[in-house]
Amino acid sequence: MKYILIQADGMPDRPIKELNNKTPLQVANTPTIDKMTCISEVGSVNHIPEGFKSGSDVGNLSVLGYNPRKYFTGRSPLEAASIGIDLGPNDIAYRCNLINLVEINDHLIMEDYSAGHIETSKAEKIINYLKKYMDNDEFVLYPGVSYRHILVWKEGKMNLETTPPHDILEKKIKNFIPRGDDSLKINEFMKKANALIKKLKNEDSEIGKVKVSDIWLWGQGKKTTLPSFFDLTKKNGSVISAVDLVKGIGRCASMNIINVEGATGYLDTNYLGKVESGLKELESKDFLMLHIEAPDETGHEGDYKKKIQAIEDLDSKVLSPLLEGLKQIEEEYKILLVSDHPTPIELRTHSYEYVPFLIHQRGMNLSNHDFKGFSEDIVNSTQNKLDDGYKLIYKFLDL
Ligand SMILES: [Zn+2]
Repeated sequence: MKYILIQADGMPDRPIKELNNKTPLQVANTPTIDKMTCISEVGSVNHIPEGFKSGSDVGNLSVLGYNPRKYFTGRSPLEAASIGIDLGPNDIAYRCNLINLVEINDHLIMEDYSAGHIETSKAEKIINYLKKYMDNDEFVLYPGVSYRHILVWKEGKMNLETTPPHDILEKKIKNFIPRGDDSLKINEFMKKANALIKKLKNEDSEIGKVKVSDIWLWGQGKKTTLPSFFDLTKKNGSVISAVDLVKGIGRCASMNIINVEGATGYLDTNYLGKVESGLKELESKDFLMLHIEAPDETGHEGDYKKKIQAIEDLDSKVLSPLLEGLKQIEEEYKILLVSDHPTPIELRTHSYEYVPFLIHQRGMNLSNHDFKGFSEDIVNSTQNKLDDGYKLIYKFLDL
């Protein structure tokens, strides 16, 4: 049996006025998912345990079968692992976003948490410039993908409160700058970096045009140690994702990480390349996690048209060619379609509702329902409910 997990990041939503009080998932044209749903088991699941902040860090750990209560040590250590940073036992990793602040009525406002989804080559130029002036025995910056980078504070501190920048869009940053006992050096670091970015923008006309003004530090944590996915499930697994965080979880779980050229984590990603690489992996592996980030990003943008596009792309550019490719293999397969958390358009950030899932098996009718399509409706009316989301994968894997 081959097992394929499709993680549609942030796909579930809330009813939207402009869509006649329907959600993007309900409105999107998804013939392949609809067809699958009719013969799939459906249910609802919660990947964010009570007391945890809804995020892709906690959510993806749970999706892959790791109880966040036991294994979550912060977001950044997972991302650090993905770019091969070996954290010492007392090192603290911080997520370093490239962001854009604007000044309105003497207040600095978080205009963009992603610096306009900055191109990686331009972001690298900025981070490397900062490194030249700011790396020392205590602090080291590491360039990542697009707007997502890492700062390591060696033998560092983490007793401070930080805020994800995508949670405070359009808000004054004044109330959200890092605060608490250990915040002084972090705030100094941010200030210095911001002055340097200003300088670089004046010197370099290409960077001058980018919608970037600052860095933003958050998501701090110590090194994450996970038992391997194989030890938990007795399945050999691979992970395909554009997102460092998801790759980092895979790496910490000793899974095979596949880098696909042109994978951006956005609407312009190389969907077909991801599917083709996934099918190739399944020749030798039992399990594949295919992570699709665009529904989450478009949710953060608050653009329901783009979110509908992301969902339709999931249907036509991921599931349709995947099923087509799977026809060529002899072996039986199962597909789990699920999300880590909702990213509602109205909030432009993650929320805490349960999310729908479906379990599909080749040639089998697993249906436990009358739904014609896959949507948030399932969450409201199914009896098939899992409160501890990390247990879902064991059910999927018949364990
Ligand atoms: Zn997510």
